[in-house]
Amino acid sequence: MNEFQLIQTYFNQADLSFSHPNICHSIGDDCAELSIPSGKNLVTSIDTLVDGVHFPQGASAYDIATRSLCVSLSDLAAMGAVPIGFTLAITLPSLNEQWVKEFSGGLIEIARMFNCPLFGGDTTKGPVLVITIQVHGFVARGASIKRSGAQVGDKVYVSGCLGDGAGALPIVLNDPLIRSGLAQHFYKPLPRIDFGQSILPYATSALDISDGLIQDLGHICAASEVGMEIDIDSIPMSELLLNTYDREQALQYALNGGDDYQLAYTSSHCENGICIGRVVEGNQVLVDGQLIGNTGYQHF
Ligand code: ADP
Ligand code: MG
Repeated sequence: MNEFQLIQTYFNQADLSFSHPNICHSIGDDCAELSIPSGKNLVTSIDTLVDGVHFPQGASAYDIATRSLCVSLSDLAAMGAVPIGFTLAITLPSLNEQWVKEFSGGLIEIARMFNCPLFGGDTTKGPVLVITIQVHGFVARGASIKRSGAQVGDKVYVSGCLGDGAGALPIVLNDPLIRSGLAQHFYKPLPRIDFGQSILPYATSALDISDGLIQDLGHICAASEVGMEIDIDSIPMSELLLNTYDREQALQYALNGGDDYQLAYTSSHCENGICIGRVVEGNQVLVDGQLIGNTGYQHF
């Protein structure tokens, strides 16, 4: 099997590169072509995942695929966007057909779940497995939720339990093929696409929590020129996390661990979500009045 047969068989397959009303031209040409409905804007985001950095070496191709597409789609969720489709640049150390077959199976599961087909990409050989996914979505013109809109007096909300992704990390590092329990949250952090759209009418700022709650809330504070006060007792954590770790460790994961892919947002009033604090004057994120060490993830 050569490169073109590989693309044709596993990336340009009907289950993955399925039709979408706004994708006029898909895999097979020099460019893909999208149509943008009037009154909508195109939003895009790109994420790279490197073997041994963003997923443990030895993880299954299926799990690598679900994680890669989920974390990419999470950025669309944070803007309140509706997915259109994604492109995939993949660098493979060797052409292992079975691996690519499994990988495309994982992509299919998430692509179908969020009606987000694959419509183009690039396939290369290189020393280490690298996966780059660019997601594309629509949002009504002027309606997207930015990081810069938080107002003093708003409350701070999150869309669900925190800490599961970070709590899963030691488990999958120990056994990359484990899939049950917390490991689910690592390999399949389902993006909060519907939730992101539901908060569009009232959220003043939003982002997805990828690097740890406190660090990520700090990004909203910096962009909005505000501070925040967070109440530690209101941080939502799953039974699964609390049954696996003591409370202190679980809180550490919830506050500073990454990989949650829940949304954090601010609003003066809110119909859903879990309130964890408020927006105040200043430029810092205080937890129960204290400045806590920020150990959220950074590459450099
Ligand atoms: P070019 O030489 O113009 O870059 P390629 O040979 O790289 O074209 O790709 C041929 C077609 O296959 C293009 O339409 C491209 O979008 C698609 N393609 C290549 N690799 C992938 C991939 N990993 N996933 C999806 N589509 C791909
Ligand atoms: Mg190419």
